[in-house]
Amino acid sequence: MIEMIQESFSREVFRVRKVENQDNLSQVLCFGCASIYNLSNNDIFTCPFCNYSIDEKIYRKIIKAAKTAVYYGYDYRRVYEKQINGQGKITQRFAISDPVAIFCFMGVAALSGVIGGAAYDLVKKVIVQIIEKSKDVPDDIGQAKIAQFSKDNIEIFIQYIREYHQNKLVTADEVNLEIEKERIIGNLADILYPVLKKSKPIKDEFNEAIDRLFNKGREIDELKIKDFESFWNNIEK
Ligand SMILES: [Zn+2]
Repeated sequence: MIEMIQESFSREVFRVRKVENQDNLSQVLCFGCASIYNLSNNDIFTCPFCNYSIDEKIYRKIIKAAKTAVYYGYDYRRVYEKQINGQGKITQRFAISDPVAIFCFMGVAALSGVIGGAAYDLVKKVIVQIIEKSKDVPDDIGQAKIAQFSKDNIEIFIQYIREYHQNKLVTADEVNLEIEKERIIGNLADILYPVLKKSKPIKDEFNEAIDRLFNKGREIDELKIKDFESFWNNIEK
């Protein structure tokens, strides 16, 4: 058991180190019209198509919550459910890579319904639009990965994000347990890596890091209905 945790921990530290400076925001999803625009020509978060503006801090907060919800609530769940359905148990555990930008954008759409109260059909329409519009984006934001995602799975995707938000996955106990383990180990690596990197870790800082461990990775719990105010106002209904 300890060996397994140590092994998972080292691979997670490796992952955290790898993605440390990759908070890629070159392509931004407009929360008004669901267009995807390039930020490098436009360092303020204002959509060139519909003029919808958003504060960078709020944008990052929502994207981050969507990213962790997709990562643990959809990606890991799919991987482990596949093993349960195929062999009746989980035999392989591995670190999956972070969700691609398009999946994070789809996660935002799902959360706008799950937390923000946007109508279900509108959320589905926004997701389809994100997938379609991503095809015209020249940068790699995960188009290859999304090409394998069937639109028939949109409802399952929304359902999984909803269940993750409710912290109640309707799935095998083993899957629940593995996801929770991954989340805690991922958080541990996330939080401890910057502390371990310093030559003299300070005790208080270390203790604070441990405290944060139990709350991190649930960014989704910090989102409120008002965070989604005026979302998709510029989409024809
Ligand atoms: Zn827009």
